[in-house]
Amino acid sequence: MGHPEGPARVRMLQDHLARRGYPFVEPRPATDEELLSVHTPDHVRRVESGDFRDPDCPPYPNIGFYARLAAGGAVLAQQRRGFSILRPPGHHAGPSFLGGFCYYNNLAIAVRRSGKRTLIVDIDGHHGNGTEAVFYGDPAVTYISLHRIYNYPGTGHESRGNCLNYPLPPRCGRALYVETLEQALAAAGSAYDELAISAGFDTYREDPLASLGLDVDAFYDIGYVLGERKLPAFAVLEGGYVPEIMGPAADGLIHGLRDGGAPREG
Ligand SMILES: [Zn+2]
Repeated sequence: MGHPEGPARVRMLQDHLARRGYPFVEPRPATDEELLSVHTPDHVRRVESGDFRDPDCPPYPNIGFYARLAAGGAVLAQQRRGFSILRPPGHHAGPSFLGGFCYYNNLAIAVRRSGKRTLIVDIDGHHGNGTEAVFYGDPAVTYISLHRIYNYPGTGHESRGNCLNYPLPPRCGRALYVETLEQALAAAGSAYDELAISAGFDTYREDPLASLGLDVDAFYDIGYVLGERKLPAFAVLEGGYVPEIMGPAADGLIHGLRDGGAPREG
């Protein structure tokens, strides 16, 4: 088996969304200033030069450029209330570390750039240790993560400060997941200007890395509950390793957000 975070997953996602009539726009690469709003200068230098060793994050040729482009995609998604489907993903990358297929924290860069009071909801099946490291203690941001217990990266066992963590059992299923998400949103309160979604689909029941037993229709329900916050929303792709369901899952999430009541255009 090849590296699970490969291009097929995004290709199938894009094909599906294109067939459903979604428009696409091309981002620009993130600027140094944007990267440095989240990452240390040394981290940026290492990603740019391929000067790092991590079995999950190979120093592919031009990875610095593609990581910068994915960060730019998140910035554009924030500006247009869109969904960035670029890879590599980002939520395991912290101020000075990479890991778990992530080099730069795309969503964190977009949130920092906006300067808005932001509720981040991470629905990827793994804990976003990088995002937590970026925003822990930041009074403008609350970070919510629902993730599979005792799994990579081994963090997120409990809430701390503005980071609300909900570890869940592997066979959690849709009802418990949605109920937990509603609890988490209630605990986070309502003092936000924007909702930022770390959209991973590896909670899907057949996923090899982080399944929580969710069927594809669950992503519509998740979107609906998030839409009920009535906040302007954007989403950034994280994980999801069953390429065939990426498109239907993303489409369901987007429709759920709209039907739940998220404002459509700002
Ligand atoms: Zn994941």
